[in-house]
Amino acid sequence: MDRRKPLTPGQARPLDAGEADGPPRRPAQPPLPPITAANSNTRVSTGRPPVTRPAPAQAARGDTARPTNSNTRIAPARLLVPAPGPAREPAGSDNRGLNSERMRAALVARLRSHGIADERVLEAVQAVPRHRFVDEALASRAYEDAALPIGHGQTISQPWIVARMIAAARNGRELVKVLEIGTGCGYQAAVLAGVAREVYSIERIKALHELARNRLRPLRLAHVRLVFGDGMLGVPSAAPFDAIVVAAAGLEVPQALLAQLAPGGRLVAPEGDARQHLVMIERTGAQSWVRTELEPVRFVPLRPGVLL
Ligand code: SAH
Repeated sequence: MDRRKPLTPGQARPLDAGEADGPPRRPAQPPLPPITAANSNTRVSTGRPPVTRPAPAQAARGDTARPTNSNTRIAPARLLVPAPGPAREPAGSDNRGLNSERMRAALVARLRSHGIADERVLEAVQAVPRHRFVDEALASRAYEDAALPIGHGQTISQPWIVARMIAAARNGRELVKVLEIGTGCGYQAAVLAGVAREVYSIERIKALHELARNRLRPLRLAHVRLVFGDGMLGVPSAAPFDAIVVAAAGLEVPQALLAQLAPGGRLVAPEGDARQHLVMIERTGAQSWVRTELEPVRFVPLRPGVLL
């Protein structure tokens, strides 16, 4: 199922008009490669034969395509960490921090046993208190390996998918500048903060942008910058990025994001509609990008414009 394909320069798709509150407009860009829709494995136009190489280590174990909840891998078995009692301890208990650390350690062990091998990413998951990114009523479920609702029809991504995307985008490199599309409640941005020197994260729903700001504030991650705007346009003023992770699924990866990837950089995004796959696109040169299709997933949709 995994394929790597060279993409060749082509006509850039016209970009949506930027929103007043969005990030600064992008400068004139060189011609960009056509990235096709979900069935792109049959539609890559190139003068060269497709390159097929093994994809990076992944945890696919014969996943069957069965939609579960949003922002999650589609897998035959749900990997649930049993809801632990200690999370229900009264606020202020001295054990709270320790207990959530233990639950995170159990979650990290599960991620490791399900194919996440990047120790830096696992350390970052261990360091981020996921229970602080969801409503109190859901805090006891925060260390299940599952997506959970965060309001406005959106979800906090499943930890496995967060780790998978970051590990694939990182590829063992030291990351200086990364971009996340779809901040949501800010959880993935906090995990990214553990593996990159500068993190930009953009969200199109104002209320979620503000929620993430509030959730991240106590963690004092000075190198995380939250942007309110349409992430389909990227954040051109801060580009190029060593890695871009997209937390919502479009029919195709926006051209603007490919242009904002540094040479050697990697973008990981879900692509598709009712059926979605994770794709990884590596910028191999000024005008060349190579695409690899990864496992089936189910994400909330990537939408243009902003919601005030
Ligand atoms: N990264 C989050 C997941 C959030 S869900 C986590 O850590 O769990 C995906 C988010 O993408 C939603 O909040 C949705 O509003 C946002 N989104 C969808 N289209 C977008 C766009 N064009 N620009 C920015 N954010 C977008």
